Amino acid sequence: NFISSVVPPGEIGVKFDDIGALEDVKKALNELVILPMRRPELFSRGNLLRPCKGILLFGPPGTGKTLLAKALATEAGANFISITGSTLTSKWFGDAEKLTKALFSFASKLAPVIIFVDEVDSLLGARGGAFEHEATRRMRNEFMAAWDGLRSKENQRILILGATNRPFDLDDAVIRRLPRRIYVDLPDAENRMKILSIFLAQENLDSEFQFDKLANLTDGYSGSDLKSSIVNLCIAAAYRPVQELLEEEKKLYLTDENIICLKKFDFEG
Ligand code: ATP
Repeated sequence: NFISSVVPPGEIGVKFDDIGALEDVKKALNELVILPMRRPELFSRGNLLRPCKGILLFGPPGTGKTLLAKALATEAGANFISITGSTLTSKWFGDAEKLTKALFSFASKLAPVIIFVDEVDSLLGARGGAFEHEATRRMRNEFMAAWDGLRSKENQRILILGATNRPFDLDDAVIRRLPRRIYVDLPDAENRMKILSIFLAQENLDSEFQFDKLANLTDGYSGSDLKSSIVNLCIAAAYRPVQELLEEEKKLYLTDENIICLKKFDFEG
């Protein structure tokens, strides 16, 4: 129950092509995760090319970190386990050791697997000093111990993928365990255009639809902002002809003859 979801790769339903922009991030993830998971034999020799076991995605909210994590599992052919830091610490206070052990033993049976820890700062944030709850401390220590056990097993294809908007809140010990840190930035105008064209790919757009104009008007918008504001605007715009048609139908129905009948009915009623 403390795991938000467990999904096999074929059922995740998101691929890299569904993500607009972020080309450098996709390229880095391809080298760090997809290739080693798909072709482990290429990474089994020597020390330099060891598969990476911990990656941090950090950046502003709504820039697609969760989406990337899911698509990565699809592309790598890995099972996807998702847990949320804040849920773990608030709901499962008492059972830290038991649950963490269960998570890691479950994950090792599912390899290749990506364990996505959203809001990793809530679970593995900087040590909270004297006021930190004992259970939070135990949960974090247990998590890191289990993680170390996993890192020492060479051939297990298990990756911990953390995501956060608050990288500076992370404990140093956690940062060390996430040796690859990838910044997921807000999109610039060109990339906003790419994201918008993915959102509207299935729509029957007017030939004069101006992606560049929308992209230029949305400086500072994340992918998630674009989805909620622009796409809703487009839905409203697409609804307009429907509304106009309904108005026309209403007019057709309200002919003079019908109105007289209605008045008569009113009078008699
Ligand atoms: P948070 O840090 O708040 O958890 P996040 O970085 O994990 O946010 P997501 O949850 O992945 O962001 O993004 C929210 C939604 O925004 C996605 O489900 C998707 O619909 C849309 N989105 C964001 N970025 C992109 C993108 N680059 N391409 C396509 N869709 C995107």
